[in-house]
This record gives sequence, structure tokens and C-alpha cells, in this order.
Amino acid sequence: MFLPSPWRQFFPGILAFAEQQQVWLDSAATAQKPLAMITALSDYYQHGVANVHRAQHQPGERATRAFEAARSSIASWLHAGTEDAVIFTKGSTEGLNLLSQALAHNLHSGDEILISAYEHHANLLPWQQLALARGLTLKILPMDANGHLDIEQAIAQLSSRSRILALSTLSNVVGHRQSVAKLLSAARQAGVWTVIDGAQAAVHARPNLQQLDCDFFVCSAHKLYGPDGVGVLFVRERALAALRHWQFGGEMVRHCDYQHAEFLPAPLGFEPGTPSTANIIAFAATLTWLQSLDSHAIANHETALHKALLAGLQERGMDIIGAPNCALVSFNAPQVHHADLAALLGEQGVAVRAGHHCAMPLLQSLGLPGALRVSLAMYNNGEDLQRFFSALDQALEILQ
Ligand code: PMP
Repeated sequence: MFLPSPWRQFFPGILAFAEQQQVWLDSAATAQKPLAMITALSDYYQHGVANVHRAQHQPGERATRAFEAARSSIASWLHAGTEDAVIFTKGSTEGLNLLSQALAHNLHSGDEILISAYEHHANLLPWQQLALARGLTLKILPMDANGHLDIEQAIAQLSSRSRILALSTLSNVVGHRQSVAKLLSAARQAGVWTVIDGAQAAVHARPNLQQLDCDFFVCSAHKLYGPDGVGVLFVRERALAALRHWQFGGEMVRHCDYQHAEFLPAPLGFEPGTPSTANIIAFAATLTWLQSLDSHAIANHETALHKALLAGLQERGMDIIGAPNCALVSFNAPQVHHADLAALLGEQGVAVRAGHHCAMPLLQSLGLPGALRVSLAMYNNGEDLQRFFSALDQALEILQ
């Protein structure tokens, strides 16, 4: 299996793993970091730090300029429009929680929120809890036999009570890139706010938020080769007025007295407290570095790895979940508990994820206690897959 990765050399963590005889096939959980991101992070700290948007001194002004330049470059990576807002969060989870709370005041008992059957808990629990607290209906859009969203059925579920449609475009379990354009446009015509969870999808295809006609979009830096603890919530201009401020603290008011406050609009009004400045600057540097690479070559490489992974699992008679077409495959070995298999792979230095993948209702609906997941990134190569398959063969010999 000759599938070399020309990008491997940029990732010190992957090179360190290679020395430790460790194979990283868990990038859907979190991706390893390129030198460009590590350098940007350390550069920021090396030159002296200051809080942003608060100071008249030169270090504060320099930090604020770098911080806002990072926002602009992240916005341009997303193809956001100049009137749209890019709000910094801690990650996709926080972005979705923010939305569930900031949109809540628009919703009334009997209103509907629609999500797919394969959502990660991050795009289920905030809506579920909101529905329970407010007497709303959480509608679960069905999947077809391949684990893909049934778009026609989903459109048929839209009703005059529908208010929010929240969907991931790449499930972290099924690994299927989901086309949602037709559904988004039907939702828009029905006056429904649309939320896209891009946590898994963004790293495999640069989002184009001019084309993807959603109102809100979230992603996490750490899955995009960037630092931990940072994410983005994109809000299209037309949806800004629907959001009510949700967390309260420093640097978010225009004016405040003991009894009242007048809040700033997005983004600053939604970013109270000291932001994760270094990480945000390093995230922007990561995306700039990503843009310097040949995205088609990366996509082709990931596709070739994915095909080889799928074929190898099928040859070995593994039970594959759904019909994955992007970056990851979830599976079980017949008659083997996923945790036993994961433990034996781990012992052989192969890092894959096992469990319910924060998608418990999905696994329950498939009648599975859990599954293994192998996920891929630009730095993986054919040798990683060979190591995985030989570890799998050895583990199966013991377990089956
Ligand atoms: N949505 C999906 C589809 C995910 O895979 C994840 C992370 N596993 C999240 C949301 C949450 O992302 P984070 O943990 O970075 O907030």
C-alpha cells in the first residue's frame, strides 16, 4: 500500500509518534498540529502579551490589531460576507450552546426544532434541553438504510411550527458527507433558522459560507489542525437580530449602570471576558498555512486512504456502519466487543476511537453498544494503514 504523505513532515507530533511506534488514526477526535501553528503560538507569547480591546498602551494595541486581523482572515477563509459576524467561542460545543440560549427567547411552547438522527451530542443536547425547558418539540429527521439523511422526508417534516433546523454535514460516526443545500433552501422558504455543525466537515473541504445558505455555522480549531479551546460561530447578517446576549462580563457593553446595560452588537457583545488571544492568532496562522497547500492533492490523498481503509475492512468481513464516503469509517468485528478490540489495537500502538462517539441515540437505534472508528488526516499514509491492518489481524486472531 504505497500512499506516501508529503505533508507528514510538517507535523512534529506525527514524527514523534513515529519514533514511539505509535500510529495516529483518531484525527476526528482531534488533529495533530503543524509547525506553522506551534510557531505562531510561541511567537505570540515570545513578544510580550496584552489583553485585547482594553488598553491604550502599545502592547495592547498590537495585540488587538493581531486579534482582529485573525478574525478577518478566519472570516475570509470561511468566505463570510463583510456584514456577517464571526464570533469566537471555545469550540463547536460552545457555539451550539450559545445558539440554543441566544435564540431561545424567539421560541414558544409547541414550536419545533429539527435535527438529524446522527447528530453528535453537541448538536443534540443543547436543543433537547431547550425543548424540555420550554415545551418545544424536538423532531428527529430519519436516515435511510445507508445512514444518510433522507432529504425528501426531512423536507416533508417542515411545518408551520418549525423554527430551527440544526444539522451536521459530516457525521463523526457514519462518515458521510451530507448534501444539505436543497433542505436548507426549503427551510429558508419556511422561515426556519438553519444551523450547520461543521465540526467534522470543515477540515476536509474548506467551507464556502457564501454558497452554503445557512444562518449559523460552527466549527472547532482543534479539528482543523489548530489549537485547543477555540472555535468559531458564524452568524449571517440576516440572523444577527434574532440573537439575544447570552453570557455577561467585561468588554461587551456600550454603557452600564447598576440597574441596566446596553450591550455591544456581535461579535464583541457575544465575547465577554478575556479571549483566547494566542490560540485565536495561532488558529488564523494555521488556516493561512492550510491555504498555502494544494487542497486538491490533499483531498485526493484522503480519498485514496479512505478507499484503502474501507476495502481492507470489507475484505476482513467487518460490519461497517452506514456507507461512509469521507475521512472516517466506524465498524465492529463480528462477535467481538469494540472495547476489547480497541484495547488490543492500543497495546500494539494503534490509536483508534472506540465507544458511542458522543452519538448514543444513533448507536442505540442501530442496536449497537458501541463501535470502533478509524479516522484519517492529511498526514496519514499507506504505512499507517498497513500497521493498523496487521494489528487488527493479530487482535482478531486472539479475540475471534
Ligand atoms: N459536532 C461533531 C460532528 C463533532 O464530531 C464534534 C466533536 N467530536 C463536535 C460537534 C463538538 O466539537 P468540540 O468538542 O470541538 O466542541
